[in-house]
Amino acid sequence: MTVNTPVDSPTPRMASENVLENFVGGEWIPAEGDGALDVPDPSTGRVIARVPRSGASDVERAVSAARRAFAGWREVPVVERSRRVLALRNLLEGQFDELVRSVVRENGKTVDEARGSVRRGIEAVEFAASAPTTMQGAFLEDVTPGVDTTLLRQPLGVVVGITPFNFPVMIPLWMAPLALVCGNSFVLKPSERVPLSATILARLVAEAGFPAGTFNLVHGDAAAVDALLVHPGVDAVSFVGSAPTARHVYATAAAHGKRVQALAGAKNHLIVLPDADLERTVPAILSSAFGQSGERCLAGSVVLAVEPGGDALVARLAEAVGRLPVGPADDGATSVGPVIRADHRARVLRWIEEGSAGGAVVAARGSLPRGSDGFYVAPVLFDRVKPEMAIAQEEIFGPVLAVVRVPSLGEAIAVANRSRFGNAAAIFTRDGKSAREFAHRIEAGMVGVNVGVPAPAAYFPFVGWKGSFYGDLHATGRDAIDFYTRKKVVTSRWF
Ligand code: NAD
Repeated sequence: MTVNTPVDSPTPRMASENVLENFVGGEWIPAEGDGALDVPDPSTGRVIARVPRSGASDVERAVSAARRAFAGWREVPVVERSRRVLALRNLLEGQFDELVRSVVRENGKTVDEARGSVRRGIEAVEFAASAPTTMQGAFLEDVTPGVDTTLLRQPLGVVVGITPFNFPVMIPLWMAPLALVCGNSFVLKPSERVPLSATILARLVAEAGFPAGTFNLVHGDAAAVDALLVHPGVDAVSFVGSAPTARHVYATAAAHGKRVQALAGAKNHLIVLPDADLERTVPAILSSAFGQSGERCLAGSVVLAVEPGGDALVARLAEAVGRLPVGPADDGATSVGPVIRADHRARVLRWIEEGSAGGAVVAARGSLPRGSDGFYVAPVLFDRVKPEMAIAQEEIFGPVLAVVRVPSLGEAIAVANRSRFGNAAAIFTRDGKSAREFAHRIEAGMVGVNVGVPAPAAYFPFVGWKGSFYGDLHATGRDAIDFYTRKKVVTSRWF
C-alpha cells in the first residue's frame, strides 16, 4: 500500500438531482439503495440537497473497501498515523469557516453555536494526535525469573460510526480520527438529516493523506445502519443518538459479536439553591436550556428550584425567556434558531400542549419570526411542574424548560436521581459543602458546579450514566483509546 499518496478524487460530488454520493475506497460513487430523502435548511424549509438511502449493497462495498485498507493501514507506524491526524487538524482549521457555514445551514445552529461545536470537534482531533503516547502499553520485567510480560494495544479492524443530527461535525470527529490513529479503518454513517458536513469531512480526511479505503462515508437511514450492525466485516460500532435507537444498536451489534458503545438520550437537571448568584445563574440556565434550541444531549431540561428561591428565579427566567430572539440561524441577532425538522417541531409542540393540559403553568412564552417557512418553536418556560409529569421525565429536545419547586437540596437530588437518564446535571450555589454533596450523590456522569453545560474536553471521557449510555467504554478520552484497540499480552523467555 502506498500511504503517502492522497486519493486523487477529493471533491464531493452530487449525482443527478442533487443526490449526494457515498465516499468508498477513495472514490465518490452513487448509492445503489432505495431512493433519496430531501435535506431542508431548517431556517427556511428550502431543500438544499438530497441524501441517498443506501442499502445492503452500498454497505457491503464500504465495509469491503475498509477491510482491504485495514491490512496496510495497521502496518503504518502510529507516529506516522498521528501525522496524518495533525494534517487533518490543520485542514480543519483552514476550512473552519466553511464547516461552520455548513453546520449553520443544515443543522440550524447559530453561528456562535456552530463555531463552538466545530472547535470542540477539532479538540478531539488534537487529542487523537497524541496516540504515540496514549496507545502505549505496559511492560513488566521478571514476572518469574527470566520471563517478561509486554502488553500491546492493537487496532480492532473495521469500525463503524453512526452519528446524530445535532452535531454534524463534532461527533464524527469524536470517532473517526481516534479510530484511524489507532490503526483501524472507518465507515461513517452520518445522520440523514445533516449529511452535507460529513461530505466536507470526507474530502478533508482524504486530503490529509489517509489512504483510500481507510475512511468511508455511507449516507442513509435505518436500512444502512441495520446492514452495518450485522455485517460480519465490522468489528466495532460507535453510536450516538436517541435512546430507542441506542438500545437497538447496542443489542443488535452485540448479538453479532461486535464491540459497541451507544451514547443515548438525556433529561438533564439543573439544581438552583436559594443562595445562587442569579446574575450569573440565569444566563447559564438560559444558554443550557435554550441554546441550540434545546437540541443538545447536555441541555438543561428541568430546573429544580430549591425554596424559598423559586419565585425570584422564575421571575428572572420568565422575563428573559419572553425576550429570547428566535430566528434564522445565520442572523447574528438570533439566540434560538429553528429545530431540525417540521415533524420534530410538531413533536415539541405536542409536549408543550401536554404540559399545559397536565396543569403546568406557562410562566413565559417567546415569539416566532414572521413569515418564515423555517421550523421554529417559540421558547416556553413551565413553572409548577410535578416531577412525575411526562414533560419532567421525557426528552423533549426543543426550547422548553420545566421548573419543579422542591423544599431542599436532598429532595432535589432525589428527584434528579429518579430519572431513568443520567447524562448531565448541574448545581448553582455559593456553598461549597452543598456543591460537594451534590457532586458526590448525583447519579449522572457529567456534573456541573455553576456550569450549565458540563461538557468534558475531548481528553476526558464523555460519560453518560444509566439510560443515557449503553456499553462499557465511553467516547473520547482514554476510554476511546481502550475502545478502539484490543490488548495483547506477550509473555517471553529467551533461552
Ligand atoms: P436518532 O436516534 O434518530 O438517529 C441517530 C442515528 O441513528 C442516525 O444516523 C440515524 O440514521 C440512525 N437511526 C435512526 N433511527 C434508526 C432506526 N430505527 N434503526 C437504525 N438506525 C436508526 O437520533 P437523532 O435524533 O439524530 O439525535 C438526537 C438524539 O441523540 C437525542 O436523543 C440526543 O440526546 C442524542 N444524543 C446523545 C448524545 C450523548 O452523548 N449521549 C450526544 C448527542 C446526541
